[in-house]
Amino acid sequence: MNQRPDKKNPATLGQLSQAVHAGNRVDEATGAVRTPLVLANSYALPEDPSSLSWSSSEATLYTRNGAVNQKLLQQKLALLDGAEDAVVLASGVAALHAVFFTTLHSGDHAIVADQTYEASFRLFSELLPERYGIEATFVDTSDLDAVRAAIKPNTKLIHVETVANPTTRVADVAALAEIAHAAGALLSVDSTFTPPPLARPILDGADFVIHSLTKYINGHGDAMGGSVAGSSELIGRIKADAMVDVGGVISPFNAWLITRGSVTLPLRLRQHVASAQKVAEFLASDGRVAYVAYPGLASHPQHELASRVLSGYGAMMAFAVKGDPDTQNRFVANLRVITSAVSLGHDESLIVHVGTAGERVAFYPEEFRTWGHLRLSVGLEDVDDLLADLRAALDATF
Ligand SMILES: *Cc1c(COP(=O)(O)O)cnc(C)c1O
Repeated sequence: MNQRPDKKNPATLGQLSQAVHAGNRVDEATGAVRTPLVLANSYALPEDPSSLSWSSSEATLYTRNGAVNQKLLQQKLALLDGAEDAVVLASGVAALHAVFFTTLHSGDHAIVADQTYEASFRLFSELLPERYGIEATFVDTSDLDAVRAAIKPNTKLIHVETVANPTTRVADVAALAEIAHAAGALLSVDSTFTPPPLARPILDGADFVIHSLTKYINGHGDAMGGSVAGSSELIGRIKADAMVDVGGVISPFNAWLITRGSVTLPLRLRQHVASAQKVAEFLASDGRVAYVAYPGLASHPQHELASRVLSGYGAMMAFAVKGDPDTQNRFVANLRVITSAVSLGHDESLIVHVGTAGERVAFYPEEFRTWGHLRLSVGLEDVDDLLADLRAALDATF
């Protein structure tokens, strides 16, 4: 028999209820039914503090070691990600760095998906090799034989994105976890494009799931944060090493904002995903569009895999109009609803034109290298407004 749903034990709740109730509690001091924002740097010490570890993230003593709003967000994200524990940091990049810094040492080797977020690429192509002597091989991680072939005796980590930024390549997390674990390595998965419940990489065998909270989980474009979820043992190491001693901590205010934003996460995702499918189908049907990369289209090379491993295709896509870079820019300038700005997963639709320059582009599919791409984050506006905006901008451009 199912346990009776009880908000005091959010594990008994469904996904919508978890998003509402997890990470919130009645405030004992005031009786407020929403957890207040606590801005203190320090917390009262016990009468005899002499046995406390100043590096501990267990006791609440100093905000860099973990404070009230940060800890409640951590509990909530661990639950949503299906993990034992989570750590929240200042940005998605701080979360990526925390995983790499904690798991890799000089002389270690990492296998990194050759299509990832810019900072992951730069960390593994430049910063970690040059500063710390960590070796990385960039691999097409959709080719599992290529991943197996890249394993070395010193391989300690495989890093991929569920749906890659910006190409939308889809990862087979369960298969990659098997390869990593057979080699004695860990698997870290950046799931920023597919927040829970769209993907639950921990349940598929990943050791770490990373989110840029800046994107869908906050969802309102007004606070930065990052998270890593995983086993208590691994997350404990990240808290001790990367949080307490490197110090990329999130502010209590941002943790509070992100906790509030995440209340509507599953509800927002339903609209994001439904609108994205319509937008992708519209773009794919227009002869003035050169290509559309979106996992929800049957034409996507991994549509079948995406249908099997994701519970929703996300709301991120890349496309180009038929024309040179000036034409892409004119198309963007002709938009009246969709905003030209970086970032993604906000309430408003965002588009960014990325050209064909840069080292990373060599790893992109041919159409990206030929036309460049427009990365589109489909927002929460009326989908008819978005479709009309795209159609009018195409008409004005061609
Ligand atoms: C934005 C993004 C990040 C970095 O997050 P910030 O919060 O901007 O530091 C990491 N990974 C992916 C896939 C992203 O889109």
